[in-house]
Amino acid sequence: MTEHEQRARELARNLAEVRQRIEAACAAAGRRTQEVTIVAITKTWPVTDVRLLAELGVGDVGENRDQEARPKAEQCADLGLTWHFVGQLQRNKAGSVARYAQVVESVDRPRLVTALDRAAAAAGKRVGVCLQVDLDERPGQPGEPQGGRGGCAPAGLPALADQVAGCEHLTLLGVMAVAPLDADPAAAFQRLAAVHDRLLVDHPGATMRSAGMSGDYELALAAGATHVRLGSVLLGRRNTLK
Ligand SMILES: *Cc1c(COP(=O)(O)O)cnc(C)c1O
Repeated sequence: MTEHEQRARELARNLAEVRQRIEAACAAAGRRTQEVTIVAITKTWPVTDVRLLAELGVGDVGENRDQEARPKAEQCADLGLTWHFVGQLQRNKAGSVARYAQVVESVDRPRLVTALDRAAAAAGKRVGVCLQVDLDERPGQPGEPQGGRGGCAPAGLPALADQVAGCEHLTLLGVMAVAPLDADPAAAFQRLAAVHDRLLVDHPGATMRSAGMSGDYELALAAGATHVRLGSVLLGRRNTLK
């Protein structure tokens, strides 16, 4: 068996196991598996892996750095994948990201919204947006995200949502969050659910709830996640030197 065939088998096995665990978590929560989308986070992994995942039926992939995402998305343009940008985004990268990403999950401040709307217009398309929510509850300086993982404080969400909804080239899809490092992820995902439910009153179309990574996606599914962002459980441990 060639290395490529071995890798194909490994990814198929990992994906099958993840799909089974998603099914079980959905059954336990009284949810339908079809409500859940896997976003394969392919950062640090080669384009060949993206292609293998696409062959296995994965339609959504995510990346967190523009320098890496842009060439990969370009090389996979023939696959018709939906590209999610999930990392912290500088305004000066908005133009690049808007060209290849269909969804930017990590929008957390007004000036980034303005930059993305302009970038989407320049790219001649609409870009889907999730508002990243900072779920860290530790007291800190106002406006300063504690976890260092970005995100808008829940109190700032309604205004940010209204701003996105008013943008001609952006579509408000929903919310995204990363569980804080030293907090109970189940409680964090419940907070996200509450914040999202409030947002849905004014923005009923913004149904996407992107939560859960390799270590906690079952907890996120119990709290209503519609999208799980999975890296290592699908692809293996990342090479941290990259
Ligand atoms: C890397 C990354 C993930 C995937 O992490 P794993 O633990 O490998 O599943 C999910 N979301 C974001 C924002 C990431 O940067």
